[in-house]
Amino acid sequence: MNYRKSMVLGIPGTYLDSEVFYEDAPFLENAPFLSTLIANPNHIGCHTIGETEKIFKGTQEMEREMISICAEQVFGGNEAEQDGYVASGGTEANIQALWIYRNYFVKEYDAKINEIAVVYSEDSHYSFAKGANLLNLRSLVVNVNSDTRAIDTRDLKTKIRDVQKEGVNFFIVNLNLSTTMFGSVDDIDTVVDFLAENNLNFRLHIDAAFGGFIYPFTNPENSFSFKNAYITSITIDAHKMMQTPYGTGIFLIRKGFMKYVCTEEAQYVTGKDHTLCGSRSGANAIAIWMILHNYGSEGWKMKMQSLVDRTTELCCQLDKLGIEYFRNPFLNIIAIRAKYISSNIADKFVLVPDKHEDPHWWKIVMMPHITKGNIDTFISELKTQTQSCISE
Ligand SMILES: *Cc1c(COP(=O)(O)O)cnc(C)c1O
Repeated sequence: MNYRKSMVLGIPGTYLDSEVFYEDAPFLENAPFLSTLIANPNHIGCHTIGETEKIFKGTQEMEREMISICAEQVFGGNEAEQDGYVASGGTEANIQALWIYRNYFVKEYDAKINEIAVVYSEDSHYSFAKGANLLNLRSLVVNVNSDTRAIDTRDLKTKIRDVQKEGVNFFIVNLNLSTTMFGSVDDIDTVVDFLAENNLNFRLHIDAAFGGFIYPFTNPENSFSFKNAYITSITIDAHKMMQTPYGTGIFLIRKGFMKYVCTEEAQYVTGKDHTLCGSRSGANAIAIWMILHNYGSEGWKMKMQSLVDRTTELCCQLDKLGIEYFRNPFLNIIAIRAKYISSNIADKFVLVPDKHEDPHWWKIVMMPHITKGNIDTFISELKTQTQSCISE
C-alpha cells in the first residue's frame, strides 16, 4: 500500500521525508530497492507465520519468497517447513536463536535459567557473549586448537561434564559455518555425535553469518543444512558476501519454534511480534530478493567460486614466501600469523587483527573490490619486508 495513493489514517509511519528524500527523482524509476526505501513499508513482525499486517502484504510476499529460497534452495529444507525473517544483522539473528531456545527449555522442560548453558567455541562471534549476557544465560566457551582452529572435543567434554555436576541440563549449542576471523568451519558431525551419544538435551544453532552465502555454493556436499535433523536454526548475513545494504541479516528456523518468542503484549500489531527488533524496512527484503533472482544458483556459484579461487592464488604466493596462515579451502578468508606482518603492512592494507591489543593473527578477506593489482602490491611489499628481515 502506497502512503501517497491510499487513505492510511492510523499508522505512525509514512514515506521518507520528501524535502530530503525526493520521491520523484528520475533514477528511482528503475531502482526498486531505493524507491521501496523511500515508500518505507514497515515489516514489523514475522511474515512466514500466521497473520501479518495487511497494508504491506506485497513486500511481505517478497520476503516470504526470499526466506523460502534461502531455507529450501540454499539450506536444503523441505518446502514450507521453515520460518524466518530479515533481521538487522547476524547479531540479532543469533540472539533471536538463543532467546527462542531459552524459552523453549523453560516452557517445555520447566528449566530454571541457571540450568541452561550456551555452548560455543572461543572463535565464535561476540554476539553469543552479548546474547548470553542479555538473556542471563551462562556461557561455556570451548577452546580451539591454535593451528587448526578446530573445536577441542576434550575441552568440550570436560566443560559439559563440569557444569552438569552443577545442575546444568539444557544446552543451547552454536556451531560456526565459518568464523569471522579465520573462516574455520566447526566439525559438526563430531560435536553432534558426542551430544547425542551422551543423551544431552540440546538445541543446535548454526552461525552462518559469514559463510552462509558462500560455503553451500563452493562445497555443496556438507552437513550444514536442514537435511541434518539436528540443526534447528541458521543465521545468514546477506550484507557480507551478498553485497546488500546493512540491515539484511537472515534468521531461519524450523517451523514450531517461533512461538516461544511471541510477544503477546504486541497487541496493536496484526499477528503480534515474534522478532527481536520491532519495526524494520521492507526494502531490505527486496534487496536480497533482487540479488538472488539476478544471479540464480549457477551465477552465484560462479561468483563465489571466483572469490575462493582468488583466495587460493594468494595462498600460493604466501606459500612461496614461507608465510604461515590458516585457511579453509572453501572460503575466502586468510588468517596470517602476526609475526609475518609488520604494523606498516597491516596499516597500509587495512588488515584486521584477532584482537587489537597484542594481535596473534591478521586476516585478509577476499572481497569483490580487491583487484589483482592490490594483491601484487601486497605480495611485493611482503617480499621486501621478509628479505629485509633475513638480511638483518
Ligand atoms: C558478522 C558476523 C556476525 C554478526 O553480524 P552483524 O551482521 O555484524 O550483526 C555473527 N557471526 C559471524 C560469524 C559473523 O561473521
